[in-house]
Amino acid sequence: MVFDYETRVRRLQGIMQKGGIDAAVLSVGSDLPYFTGYTAMPTERLTAFAVPAEGTPMMFIPKLEAPRLPDGDFSVLPWTEDQDPVELLASHLGDPGQVAVGDHLWSVFLIGLQSRIPNRRWVALSGLSSELRMRKEPEEIASLRAAAEATDRVLQRVPDEVAFAGRTERDIAGDFARMVVDEGHDASWFTLIASGPNGASPHHDPGGRVVQAGDVVVCDFGGVVDGYHSDVTRTFVVGDPTDRQVEVHGVVEAANRAGRQAVAPGVSCQDIDRAARKVIVDAGFGEYFIHRTGHGIGLEGHEHPYLIEGYELPLEPGMTFSVEPGIYLPGEFGVRIEDIVACGDEGVDELNRADRSLVEVG
Ligand code: ZN
Ligand code: ZN
Ligand code: ZN
Repeated sequence: MVFDYETRVRRLQGIMQKGGIDAAVLSVGSDLPYFTGYTAMPTERLTAFAVPAEGTPMMFIPKLEAPRLPDGDFSVLPWTEDQDPVELLASHLGDPGQVAVGDHLWSVFLIGLQSRIPNRRWVALSGLSSELRMRKEPEEIASLRAAAEATDRVLQRVPDEVAFAGRTERDIAGDFARMVVDEGHDASWFTLIASGPNGASPHHDPGGRVVQAGDVVVCDFGGVVDGYHSDVTRTFVVGDPTDRQVEVHGVVEAANRAGRQAVAPGVSCQDIDRAARKVIVDAGFGEYFIHRTGHGIGLEGHEHPYLIEGYELPLEPGMTFSVEPGIYLPGEFGVRIEDIVACGDEGVDELNRADRSLVEVG
């Protein structure tokens, strides 16, 4: 997929000028592909894209990796193995006042830069780039929708094709990861299978626990399509659910619905969190909803905006994020239901639509 990278860089330069930022340094992480279409190799060899507040950017790249670079409206400095790329970058930057640095630039490079350019102010680039990246272009939403629809197809296949009882979380996770690619992702991003009491840990690492009849199983997974992420969670039950499992799942389902239905331009991010959280608090489970309601999604699996109390940014058309309330009962089980949505011109644009009810699996 090819975007208008020149326009994106010009917009970034506009934001830099307004904020009094003299230079930006992009490296590994998703800002570089967002602004150039190029993804740096995350190694000890520095790749850095230096953007001045005005004028043409410069790409510093290990000479052996230069053939990977797409064409773009920037100069290229391929550095050789006997050169010190931090030194080259520092002298190129000269004596800037304020420098914005990509969130994922390795600290070893940042420390090197800071010692060569002392007494300058350093800020995180995400404070600037998220202004642009939060507001998705139609082609970006199309990729996110394709990714979400692929996960919906995986979920449709689960009750018929995935055996739960008698298998480990790790084995079940393998099935999901294969289906994610089967259904059109370029790669699996992660698979989290948390069964029984493990479900009370929102970021449980799927392990050797053998799933048993009666278990509630949280299945949270996603993949990547054209660099854009999917991220969806459904909670299944192995065999007949208990009344308590049905009750808790029903509360989370209602909270998820309330969060999605609250989405509209002008509504603040924290209001989405409040809408979902109120349902859980009113049902008496407030202390067991231990994370934010959602996160932005795009080239990064988690990015701005975040749906949490205190994040007052009003939603705008083109913002894409998860709505993922959960209830985590230590020693018992957990339930999470997560969908990716976009803020549309009128209200919510649902990228995930898979069945949200408590589905029984075998
Ligand atoms: Zn999470
Ligand atoms: Zn998730
Ligand atoms: Zn998520």
